[in-house]
Amino acid sequence: MLIDLFVRGLIMMIFVSGSVVISYYTTRVFAFLIPVAKISELFLWSGTVVISAGLLMGIAYYYVYHGFGLQTDIIRRKPSAGNKVVLTFDDGPSEVYTPDVLKVLAEKGARATFFMVGSHVEKYPEIAKKVIEEGHEVGNHTYGHITVPNSPPPQLAAQIMRTNLVILQITGIYPQYLRPPRGLYDMRMRRIAKLLGQELVLWSLSSQDWHSRANKASITRRVVERAAGGDIILFHDSGSLLNSEGANRKPTVEALGPIIDGLRAKGLEITTMQEFMDYPPEQTRRLSS
Ligand SMILES: [Zn+2]
Repeated sequence: MLIDLFVRGLIMMIFVSGSVVISYYTTRVFAFLIPVAKISELFLWSGTVVISAGLLMGIAYYYVYHGFGLQTDIIRRKPSAGNKVVLTFDDGPSEVYTPDVLKVLAEKGARATFFMVGSHVEKYPEIAKKVIEEGHEVGNHTYGHITVPNSPPPQLAAQIMRTNLVILQITGIYPQYLRPPRGLYDMRMRRIAKLLGQELVLWSLSSQDWHSRANKASITRRVVERAAGGDIILFHDSGSLLNSEGANRKPTVEALGPIIDGLRAKGLEITTMQEFMDYPPEQTRRLSS
């Protein structure tokens, strides 16, 4: 455990110091090339901070969407899924928005996968049950919407196992899929998922409905324009930037109907994770390596 922590700390330090050094010299080159920008201490350091932040955000983005190395155990999209796409909803269930999302899905005859926060399932058991009763799938999104790489080992395992149990007790279903909050996973989580017989699912297309300026039109346009067969599309039916719930998800609810219509008009078929992974039927399901 200590070695694990040490290695992770070391990798983090290499990333941070590497980007600081790169940013510092990039700023120096800028100051040299642009005569207006005089090499003052302030210019150098503010340039370094801005470029470092950009680099680190870029690395984080790359990590979530592509990962480092092969990582065949992590499902982001499925190129062999033909015209199928999956709609996924994170952070629920919410007393306010999940029933509205279910209503739209029922009207459109579409099924979805809900990655639920364990503590929210305990808080709103009736809504969690309704999700299953209406033919949708439920996945595990940890008990308290934790940041996985920061959490101590016993807490991480407990967060995942407790959520599996809560979902099983309330809905009668053992969640087959696991999604780390904010897409931040680590080696330990991959091992736990394998041990518990679950698959780690991220996403290939974010609706960016968490954005403070997101609205019905922006969410609809983004998803319908970008979606292609094999995509796993991310929405939120609860959550917020700082807390695990409380954000306004009205734009998501409003955009959902037009999105389903738009995806179907593009010839895409909406399925659940399970159907998606089992397609094409003759292909054996990919097992965690
Ligand atoms: Zn989340």
